[in-house]
Amino acid sequence: MKNIAEVLEGVKTVGIGGHIRPDGDCVGSCMALYLYIRKYFPDIDVNVYLDHPKPIFGHIESIDEIKTEVEEERSFDLFITCDVSARDRLALADNLFEHAKKTVCIDHHVSNSGFADVNHIRGEVSSCCEVLYGILDPDKVDLAVATAVYTGMIHDTGVFQYSSTSPETMRIAGELMKTGIPFSRIIDESFYQKTYIQNQVMGRVLAESILLQNGTCIIGYLRKKDMDFYGVTGSDLDGIVSQLRLTRGVEVAIFIYELETQSFKVSLRSNGRVDVSKVAVFFGGGGHTRAAGCDLQGSMYDVINNITAEIEKQLTEEENA
Ligand code: 5GP
Ligand code: MN
Repeated sequence: MKNIAEVLEGVKTVGIGGHIRPDGDCVGSCMALYLYIRKYFPDIDVNVYLDHPKPIFGHIESIDEIKTEVEEERSFDLFITCDVSARDRLALADNLFEHAKKTVCIDHHVSNSGFADVNHIRGEVSSCCEVLYGILDPDKVDLAVATAVYTGMIHDTGVFQYSSTSPETMRIAGELMKTGIPFSRIIDESFYQKTYIQNQVMGRVLAESILLQNGTCIIGYLRKKDMDFYGVTGSDLDGIVSQLRLTRGVEVAIFIYELETQSFKVSLRSNGRVDVSKVAVFFGGGGHTRAAGCDLQGSMYDVINNITAEIEKQLTEEENA
């Protein structure tokens, strides 16, 4: 696909959906596409479906127009997914995708095998927002679309810091700046700023973290009862695994939190030696070489043992190579 206009020809209704527990790149790409279609294809009836987006994305125009529930079964002419690495990650919009006349997948996950009719997947690109920008008409990227795209880019590149950040990423960021986006505010308020409680919880996880495998692996964890004590949910825990990764000597950081009894969400970050997407895929999850995740069942000890065993395998394979 060279331009999104190609798939919009003759289309009257469009649905857009992202993945479960949408992050900045997911919300940014879905909203950018929504705002773009709404403005430049006014004859198309477009709807965007996402799991409750966090308040930190309140600066994105028309964020309140997101549908957080599917009220009626609809058969869209076209359903487009953004930042969705696998069909089972669609959650909320799964039924709409199923019944759409045609489907499109726009993504940047290496683990994505292409589950739509038209797949525009570029695994080497830092964010879905960057992939999406590549198929928009650059002259039509206004302040509102640029704000959404920029938000996604900073979230998936750690503010242009991860190795996936390319000269092209920076060129696009420069183009977006020309529209006058409040970039300092977007970075601070949507990425770095935490609530007092979020900082307290991060402090607690760091204080209780454990180093394994000669200090190459660090694990942080949070139990449901402690989350309830602080009154936090999974969406309050962003940034914790990134902070763990910054521990000197660490190759892989693991952050685990309890979804319910015997069920855990696992976040993985690598400094480069270990491909954590392989580890996540092994356990039914997915992601990127340096940032991946999965859900796991069992006791906390099982989860830690199973994950670290897979990481150790890669580290020893590399040593023996
Ligand atoms: P995070 O650790 O921030 O939740 O996720 C890091 C990356 O891994 C994201 O790109 C996300 O899409 C992917 N990821 C996280 N959890 C899962 C999962 O359960 N399944 C799949 N397929 N990908 C995941
Ligand atoms: Mn992404």
